[in-house]
Amino acid sequence: MSTLFTNVTAVTMDPAQPLLKNAFVSTGDSHISYVGQTRPEGAFDRVIDCTGKVMMPGFVNTHTHIPMTLLRGYGGGHSLQSWLNDYIFPAEAKLDDRCIAAGTGLGLAEMIASGVTCIADMYMHTGVIARQIVDAGISANLSCGGVYFGAPEDFDPQRCGDCRNQQALTQEWHGYHGGQIKVDASIHGEYTSSAPLWQWMADYAQAHGQRMHVHVSETQSEHADSLARHGKTPIQILDQYGVWENGGIAAHCVYTTPEDWAVMAAKGVSAAHNPYSNLKLGSGIAPVPAMLAAGVNVSLGTDGVSSHNSTDMFADLKLAATLHNGVSRDPMAVTARQALEMATVNGAKALGREDTGVIAPGKVADLILVDFTAPNLTPCHDVEENLVFSAHGSNVTMNMARGRVIYENGTFLTLDLEKIRSEVEGYALPHMFGAAGGGR
Ligand SMILES: [Zn+2]
Repeated sequence: MSTLFTNVTAVTMDPAQPLLKNAFVSTGDSHISYVGQTRPEGAFDRVIDCTGKVMMPGFVNTHTHIPMTLLRGYGGGHSLQSWLNDYIFPAEAKLDDRCIAAGTGLGLAEMIASGVTCIADMYMHTGVIARQIVDAGISANLSCGGVYFGAPEDFDPQRCGDCRNQQALTQEWHGYHGGQIKVDASIHGEYTSSAPLWQWMADYAQAHGQRMHVHVSETQSEHADSLARHGKTPIQILDQYGVWENGGIAAHCVYTTPEDWAVMAAKGVSAAHNPYSNLKLGSGIAPVPAMLAAGVNVSLGTDGVSSHNSTDMFADLKLAATLHNGVSRDPMAVTARQALEMATVNGAKALGREDTGVIAPGKVADLILVDFTAPNLTPCHDVEENLVFSAHGSNVTMNMARGRVIYENGTFLTLDLEKIRSEVEGYALPHMFGAAGGGR
């Protein structure tokens, strides 16, 4: 299927031509075939007039727990420990494959409608998530978030559930469908595991060419406890076991240090910045300008809907471009352009997917259209200013992932929204919360 976009205004994230006006973009089966000012030769299966719209690369959401959409708004208004122990963990314990499929479908609908084309997800029942994502059409790096609570001396990879999960996931899904799905190795966090699992995951990742996804220094107590236990920060103790040798994603990084950033920059570890989640949970504010200055690749993520309440990347984009300016009392601490980079091209780098996140010939055709005739985007003195500070997810009118239009003008072309709704309301919520589950 070939598509020609005409009358294109685009923020490309390509330094060679960052802003296109009155341009043409064409896509082939899965890749962008042309970007330029003259109409390309040849016939196209479909022509899309982009008058009144702005094109940009699809968002790369680099830290999600997608089935947690089922927990939207559940247990709010409690301390972090009470929220986790009294609400989130008991509800998660009831999740089965069918709940996971329903929650993933719901999360995918929300993400696709608000312009996400690629995610890095960490959750249980990962194979079920993979199946849903393949059918929906976006790309994903998936991981199971390895935990190990046993005594270190008792560790046995044959009896460690997440070691077996890692092996099974890798066999079935790593590189699936031309790389639409990649499997990352993962450790849920330093505080939910110990050295034998770190060593096993590190060795496994290196043997199978996989990257790593870990929660790192999200809260002050997590960071301080690691120092007390090991005399080292989470980044540094994990580095000691080779966890970062293939690079990957360190989610949150709120309390990371200059020494941590040196390791991250050297090993190609990206900081997934989750500003909305960090603020809602009272975790703190990641030192993003300092990390950028230290050469760390900083990307953006929403985290789970349990701690963000939506998957709208425009919300995190706006926060990333404002929060640090307020903290530093400097309106240039993080610029609109830098925030857009975090949400697109930096995210692609964080996932080891340098072939997306940019609108340029040869890149994967992951792109969205935003309605710039909407009242909240009128007038437009500066396209990037409007995208970062004025737009929201509902301004997205089209989502093309891997060369296929999967959402257009409110219609999902790869998801059955009615079936998802019925599975969420008819099965998943009653299963998890009883007859009044999610009741309105
Ligand atoms: Zn998380």
